[in-house]
Amino acid sequence: MARAIYPGSFDPMTLGHLDIIRRASRLFDKVVMAVVGNPGKSPLLSVEERKKLIQATVKGMPNVEVGSFEGLTVDYAKASETTILIRGLRAISDFEAELGMAQTNKELFPELETIFLMSKAEYSFISSSTVKEIARLGGDVSQFVPEPVNLYLKEHFARGAK
Ligand code: ADP
Repeated sequence: MARAIYPGSFDPMTLGHLDIIRRASRLFDKVVMAVVGNPGKSPLLSVEERKKLIQATVKGMPNVEVGSFEGLTVDYAKASETTILIRGLRAISDFEAELGMAQTNKELFPELETIFLMSKAEYSFISSSTVKEIARLGGDVSQFVPEPVNLYLKEHFARGAK
């Protein structure tokens, strides 16, 4: 059985992430979307909030699970007994960072294969940080994020959060 992990910050999940997980779920028997909770980045959403929103979004996808971890992705992959790592690529800028990460991970865990899925053109400009910025300024992000995320952001910023 081929199992893969799709790790990321997902702060918050966007339609770009949803497209990647949907396509990955057709390629592998099981895919775990894993929220990375490393301290250092200051996320808008807690790991638990991010997981809940992902769960609400992928609930109709039977072979997708939601997890989380802190620490090294290679350690999480080993603990999950998988050697397949999914990442999404939007542009050359992603490629530079992702190539370095994939090569480093391969050094740390030689059996690990990073598989890149190219973003669909219509999602290639969507990023979690842009979505947060628009929502913070009171803009409509419904065309960029799954509905549970849209509702969460509306409520969050309506309460006066920064
Ligand atoms: P990270 O901080 O780990 O890069 P992100 O949540 O920003 O976490 O992204 C997780 C993965 O999803 C990365 O591989 C990233 O390139 C990819 N990704 C982000 N946005 C999109 C998008 N709009 N389309 C396709 N892939 C995306």
